[in-house]
Amino acid sequence: MKRSPVLFASLCLLLLLSSCRPSPTVPSGERMWDIDYNFLLVADSLVLQEERPMHLLIVPDAADTFVVYKDDPLVVAQIEIIPEDSIDSVWVKVARDQLTQGWVHESALLSAVVPDDPISQGIQLFSNRHVVATLSLCIIALAAWLLRRKRKQRFHLVHIDDIASPYPMLLCLAFAAATVLYTTIQIFVPEMWVQFYYHPSLNPFGQPTLLALFLTLAWLIVVLSIASMDEVRRSLPATESVLYALSLLAILAGIYLFFSIATQYFLGYFLWIVYAALALWQYWRRHRPRFRCGQCGAPLHSCGQCPKCGAMNE
Ligand SMILES: [Zn+2]
Repeated sequence: MKRSPVLFASLCLLLLLSSCRPSPTVPSGERMWDIDYNFLLVADSLVLQEERPMHLLIVPDAADTFVVYKDDPLVVAQIEIIPEDSIDSVWVKVARDQLTQGWVHESALLSAVVPDDPISQGIQLFSNRHVVATLSLCIIALAAWLLRRKRKQRFHLVHIDDIASPYPMLLCLAFAAATVLYTTIQIFVPEMWVQFYYHPSLNPFGQPTLLALFLTLAWLIVVLSIASMDEVRRSLPATESVLYALSLLAILAGIYLFFSIATQYFLGYFLWIVYAALALWQYWRRHRPRFRCGQCGAPLHSCGQCPKCGAMNE
């Protein structure tokens, strides 16, 4: 229990480091969207100018403007380059509907919208909220762990005191690999990620190799998550299943932070191999199912008390 403040401090440090990472931009300056592209407004509001921006005669101070609000869909109707404009030379005309159309600087538009696609919105939500979500998850899991320790109850945790199933361990490995790959794409081919953000797909076929590999891992993670939850439900009583799932989520969040930072310093590849070797060895040595409970059929690693029904298996 004395180690928990150290754990907490390291976690805060990790979070701080991870929030310093550079956000992906389009390095080549190439626009990944064009006329007829659909955006969704996520900022509270966006001011549009009614008149078309003019060459050499930039925005009069009292230009007529109007406001569109959060969750309004916006379609790109026209793109105009005004090289004399000192703020942003690219003006975009967007339309909410037939009657509501107006002009805005490209930079102002992009900071207020997301592509109108659930995958892009998911990516945006994740990149904005992952630090808060991770911190809350870890605090809840830590509180649950302390509470169970105080009551001298067992706390099942992947890798440490795992259930007799390979799926949670494989889920962690797949998640770590996906994080390494995701960070690699962000570092070496950021255009690929921006392209994917504006034109997302869940189909790994026909994508560039790195992206195809990432999407395959994403599908593997979905399958392993379902398999893990099913195994947890079969191996542990209800309350412990919930706690196990919660701590697994916290571990995954930790894995994401750790491997995304390590990969930025090019250590992620080596550390993933070490992690995979240790995880597989630990599973084989301590958590591989070798018996079944005589009473409820739950998989067991060794004889003794069944964690699911409490029956003694001699
Ligand atoms: Zn049992």
